[in-house]
Amino acid sequence: MTVPPQQRIKIAVQKSGRLTDNSLHLMETCGLVYSRGRDQLICFGENMPVDVLLVRDDDIPELVAEGICDLGIVGMNVFREKVADGMDVRPELELDFGRCRLSIGVPRGFDYRSPQSLEGLRIATTYPRILQDWLDTQQVNAEIVMLSGAVEIAPRLGRADVICDLVSTGSTLLANDLVEAEVVFESMAALISSNGGPAEGWPARLVSRMRGVLSVRESKYIMLHAPRSALAEIRRLLPGSESPTVMPLEGRDDKVAVHAVCRENVFWETLEGLKAAGASSMLVLPVEKMLA
Ligand code: ATP
Ligand code: ZN
Repeated sequence: MTVPPQQRIKIAVQKSGRLTDNSLHLMETCGLVYSRGRDQLICFGENMPVDVLLVRDDDIPELVAEGICDLGIVGMNVFREKVADGMDVRPELELDFGRCRLSIGVPRGFDYRSPQSLEGLRIATTYPRILQDWLDTQQVNAEIVMLSGAVEIAPRLGRADVICDLVSTGSTLLANDLVEAEVVFESMAALISSNGGPAEGWPARLVSRMRGVLSVRESKYIMLHAPRSALAEIRRLLPGSESPTVMPLEGRDDKVAVHAVCRENVFWETLEGLKAAGASSMLVLPVEKMLA
């Protein structure tokens, strides 16, 4: 499918919720300038033929599957729950926000040993499909109590024995005297498009800009000094780097300077590992733009 250049495209994002700010920020980083009025349902792109449709996240997979929107940004948890077999939609790109997990939470003091501990129990959730699939793979029979919200208080109200709900920090579980017992599904936000992939023209162009934005965000430029003897080990420890530049150090035969672009985030643990391998004078710098 080719989009004529003058035709406007639509991207569906969550209207107001946890994904909204990051989604709109990503669109801005891709160069989109838009106007947004209060309570507005559509943000009109002023410098590109791209409009942003603001909707409930639950509606996003269907809007894309039906072709009303060309692209959408939604949590993989919603995607997995809402997308039935045969729907014309697929995840195109994993995004670096909205991380959370769908977990089983049990009341404190519950003797949880394995998924089999859930046999015969009532599990409250807003994600019946993902939960049922997981129970099937674990060969556990349990009763799913479908709730549309406030899942965490279901055990206290006697509506369920345990819950299956989204967790990020775990503070909601804690506040409700629940303990995270098992991760059922790991989730993050994703860009979704129709099964054929993003159409040529602006949809494809936006996806490629988003890819660029993500790879730069994650990339770091790392500089360090290393004993020559530890070079092989240090190269192995550098996350996602291609051939590093290795340079002599003035007046030192035993040490070299190593510069590398790491295409993954560099965590403290990585630096600690490098230090243990003999690296010193480590500097990690952000990369602003990159052209492969
Ligand atoms: P809507 O009104 O659009 O239906 P909602 O209440 O369903 O909103 P939010 O609570 O805003 O949704 O969460 C949106 C998405 O953010 C979730 O589907 C999930 O992918 C992600 N998310 C990240 N962390 C959490 C968390 N701790 N709890 C819930 N969702 C989280
Ligand atoms: Zn929702």
